[in-house]
Amino acid sequence: MEKKVYDLRIDPDLRDLIPPLSEEEHRMLEDSIVRNGCDTPLTVWNGTIVDGHNRYEICRRHDIPFGIEEKDFDDKDAAMFWMLEHQLARRNLNSYQRSLIGLKYESFYRDQARKRLATSTGGKEARPLQNSAEAEKGNAMDKLGKMVGVSRDTLAKVKELDANADQGTKEQLRKGEISIHKAYTELKNKEHEGETRICERCGEEKPFSEFSIVSKGTSYSPICKECEAKAKQAARDAETAASMPPAEVTGMTVLEGKLAHVPTQLRDDPALFDHVLSLLESATNAYIATCETAISKLQPSMMTEENIDIIRQMIDDAADAVDEMLIQTIAKKNVEVQ
Ligand SMILES: [Zn+2]
Repeated sequence: MEKKVYDLRIDPDLRDLIPPLSEEEHRMLEDSIVRNGCDTPLTVWNGTIVDGHNRYEICRRHDIPFGIEEKDFDDKDAAMFWMLEHQLARRNLNSYQRSLIGLKYESFYRDQARKRLATSTGGKEARPLQNSAEAEKGNAMDKLGKMVGVSRDTLAKVKELDANADQGTKEQLRKGEISIHKAYTELKNKEHEGETRICERCGEEKPFSEFSIVSKGTSYSPICKECEAKAKQAARDAETAASMPPAEVTGMTVLEGKLAHVPTQLRDDPALFDHVLSLLESATNAYIATCETAISKLQPSMMTEENIDIIRQMIDDAADAVDEMLIQTIAKKNVEVQ
């Protein structure tokens, strides 16, 4: 391999695809090249650098010879994808850094999607319906996410952090000292500082920071942290209650000459109303917690007006059935009294 100080082309589009090295990484690379020379050849496509922008800059500045390796690509898109895969495979990058690389390809993916739509509708310029444009955007983010190994939501969070977080936070993210979710939550809380919203469960107006950001998503939970904790506790209680044998008030009787415990009717004592209430409470808690689980599984495509109506009807029917029980019980009591 012939080493010399080649004069190569830099394509800004290609150069900017790769996240810059940190100051420390750059210093280490420079020290090593100045001391030991440049061992790794730069990858070049038709005289343009596709890998080794940092090495090129250092070698040129210090006049240090380097080798090159020619690669053949069909077009710039192909070169970009090779760079993406190469970068992801070579550097030891955390989710934040991988997401940043993925996002560099977002506009590229969108352009491709636009081209596809334009071809499919036969027009020169694509004027897709809002829905298909949104769907394409979502698809592009899903594909990018898969490529760099993070979820679509994580990509969306990193995009916003990259645009709006301060340098200190970005540095922490690069070093993996703070999670993407935590940094995103802090950013959102700062954006909404001094603002309040209403909890859908307790109806109280609280500051944004009293709500958490849903872990699989980018928006605030509709219920406050306190209510979330309560709901979790209720679900745990309901689980415990469900795993226990049903509470029965037992009485003693003589069965085949022996004393035995048998279920009996509750003694007519106003003090035992608490027993009825606690039975009812564990039943309703279990009901609410199970409904919550079921409803949380609803996905956007299932939420048609028709389906929501079916759910509403089901919930109404359940409430009606309980109401009917109460009415019947009261009616029976009135008959007995007469
Ligand atoms: Zn609440």
